[in-house]
Formats: sequence, C-alpha cells, structure tokens
Amino acid sequence: MKFVSTRGTGEPVGFFEAFANGLAPDGGLYVPEYTPLLPSDLLIDEALPYPALAWDFLTLFDSDHDAEDLISLVDKSYGDFSDTMSAPLTQLSANLYVLELFHGPTLAFKDFGLQLVGNLFEEQIKRTGETINVLGATSGDTGSAAIHGLAGREGVNVFILYPKGRISKLQERQMTCTGAKNIFPIPIEGTFDDAQRIVKELMGDLDLKEKLRLSAVNSINIARILAQSIYYVHAFMQLAPDDRHNVNFVVPTGNFGNVFAGWLAYKMGLPVDRFVVATNQNDILYRLFTTGEYSESEDVSPSFAPSMDIQVASNFERFLYFHSDQDGDKTTELMAKIKTEGSLEIPNFDPDIFTATRSDDAEILANISRVKEEFDYTVDPHTACGFQDIDPNQTTIVLATAHPAKFPEVIKKATGEAVTEDSLEALKKKRQKRHNLKATPAAIQAFIEKNSA
Ligand SMILES: *Cc1c(COP(=O)(O)O)cnc(C)c1O
Repeated sequence: MKFVSTRGTGEPVGFFEAFANGLAPDGGLYVPEYTPLLPSDLLIDEALPYPALAWDFLTLFDSDHDAEDLISLVDKSYGDFSDTMSAPLTQLSANLYVLELFHGPTLAFKDFGLQLVGNLFEEQIKRTGETINVLGATSGDTGSAAIHGLAGREGVNVFILYPKGRISKLQERQMTCTGAKNIFPIPIEGTFDDAQRIVKELMGDLDLKEKLRLSAVNSINIARILAQSIYYVHAFMQLAPDDRHNVNFVVPTGNFGNVFAGWLAYKMGLPVDRFVVATNQNDILYRLFTTGEYSESEDVSPSFAPSMDIQVASNFERFLYFHSDQDGDKTTELMAKIKTEGSLEIPNFDPDIFTATRSDDAEILANISRVKEEFDYTVDPHTACGFQDIDPNQTTIVLATAHPAKFPEVIKKATGEAVTEDSLEALKKKRQKRHNLKATPAAIQAFIEKNSA
C-alpha cells in the first residue's frame, strides 16, 4: 500500500515514510492510495483479542513491516492495556452501548494512536541510526499520551509545551510525574494557541527542524488515524450477531480525526448506518453538518470538554479530498479558499452518513447527571457530548473518549459525587518535574539545543 497527499503532488510513499513525514511535503495530509476491503470474517466472527485484530487491520495498509515485526509492534502497543479487551463495549440499555477507550496508560483514547507512534519512533531510530527530538504543544490529553508513548525510550527526547494553569492538575501530573529522563514538560505563560504558535514557528524553520532533528506527534499523522479505525471494527465485533445492523456510532470530536477514522472503516465495508459528530460549544463541525458551510470561528471558547476546544478541524481536509473524488487539485483549491476567506460552502454537500449534535456546558452537566441517574454509569465531559439527542430507535455506540476521573471537578458539579482512579491517585504522591521557560521561540530553541537527544 502507498499513501498519497490530499493536495495531489509528489510521489506516493510507503507506510514508514508517511509516518515519518507526518505532513506531506506539499502541505497536504496523507491518505491511502486506495481503500482496501475488510476481510469478511471480521464482520461475522466473535471479537478477536485486540492485538490480533490490530494486526489484521494494519497489515492491509503497512507493506513496510514484515509479518513478524508487525506482530511484535502491535503486541508492544496494545498488549498491556489495563483491560485485556483494550476497548470493551459496555451495554447501558437494550440498544445503547459505550465503547470504553480509556483503558490505556493516560486514560484517554489518544493512547491508541500514540502507543503505536511511540513504538514506530523507536523503530525509526534503530533503522536510521538518527536520534529524534519530539516537539509538541498540548491542551492536555495529546501531550500526556505522547509522553507515555515515548517515556524512557532510547534516542528520543520529548519537549511538550502547555499553557500554565490552563490544563487540569491531573493532566499536568500525567506529564510531569513520569520520572523519565527523556521527558521535558514545559509550562509557558499564555494560551494553548501561544504554545502552538511557538511549535509551528520552530517546526516551520526547515533548517532548524533538520538541525535539531525535530519531529511532531500531531493528530494529522496517518498512523494515528489507522490505529483509531481499528476500535470501530472491534466495537462491531463485540455486538451480538443479531444486533449488528443499523449501527450508529456517536463520536465526540473536535478536529474530525476520530470520526474520520470511523468513516474509513465504513468505506472498508464496516456496516454503519450513521456517524453522529458530537461537538461541544466550539461547534465548527456541528455547523458544517447542519448548514453545509465550513466556517472557522474567531476564538476558542473554553468549555468543560477542553480537548475538543478547537477552531480548526484539521483532519477535515481528508474528508474534503474524498468528497472531491480524490482530486488533489480540487482539494488544494478548496483549502486555499478556506485559508483566504475563513469559510467554504461545500459544493454538493450531502452528508448522508453524518449527522451532528452540539452540547454547551449546561448540557454537558445535564448529560453527565442524566446518564448517571438512568444507567448508574459515569461519563467524562467529552463523552457526555455524545449523549445529546440520541435516537432511541437505533443501535447506538457512544465512544467514551476519556475516563471520568480525569475531570473530577466537572463530575462533582454534575453528580455531587467524587470519582477516583488508582493510577491518578498514585500520581498525586509523586514529585513533579517541569521546566518553566519564557514563551518565546528563542528560549524554547535554546532549551532544546541544551537538552537534545
Ligand atoms: C482529543 C480528544 C477528543 C477529540 O478528538 P478528535 O481528534 O478531535 O476527534 C475528544 N475527547 C477526548 C477526551 C480527547 O482527548
């Protein structure tokens, strides 16, 4: 399998190169050159162990690893998730299920992508003999998942910027308490956007990027998307055979990454009736699927579901490419229009398979409390967006993107109860290590130079 850029230029590349590049050289995102079909036994059989399914899936896209190396890669990535099912499907009522994606080391779904990414970086360092400095900015979950995917590995140091005082205390502890020598959490004054701007400036200087051997772990990496498609198949396989029809997946999302991964599985033959795109008050995707217009908002409005507080749905370009019949020129033209005008009326937009919901903070609280009362089940504020306007006549699977104990204040507010989780409690006793730096590219650059892998 080869991967091509959504902007249509450049030679197709293999899995290793698409992974290592992240962004394609023409500024586009990598997509598979064609869509392989899921092996039909996956749609009939009982659920496989997660690593076995991951192998069956990834082998369709990855022609660079030999079979045995791919087995070892998926075992290393998913073998020790705390629940052996890795993504268990929990039934709440006759036709309502929750897919729990929070059993990885940092208790959010990003572990699925970033555990794999961590192992891929390790292989890349062995293969090329070149060390790597990973640089990223986070509003919480991505940074901690990346750190846990890479902590303690040889040949890679990890520098993660985050806005001081603006991520949850537990999210901060997940980054600062690893005890690993190769991890450098960097709180800066300002917002997530300020942190992101510094990262973009340093990464945008191609000479510097090469000199410091900088790599990114951002959500547009095709390896992360493929890793996320797998759990949609896994969810389907856990349904009883009689229930495997008219399935709705409800996906709490901000940048369209998670829901695009599901849509890819659908294109590969997974029988899905509908994807419900569940946003918080930062509702660019809700507005898109209800009006056909993609229009970026001026500001991010901080919500109870902070990992979905975004202005730009960066993975949407992949969908736009397929919507444009895989025409790179057309996609380039549409993306340019978004860039200059800040908005785009999508031509011939008929989102048959997508619907959308939106939850403001009051609705997030109400959903947490209602789900608790009705089903005696606690959902985190992101997952709570998925419980908005559920169609009672459909088999519905809501993706639970984080463990509720990561957001104890909001849960307390909604239900009056405290939620805890052992690994998070243990963090409270550990020493924090972080590096307060000035929020300038020069200060960050000097720090990386001094602490480079
Ligand atoms: C990152 C994140 C999301 C949003 O994911 P997308 O990539 O925007 O689809 C939702 N919930 C949680 C808990 C997250 O960490």
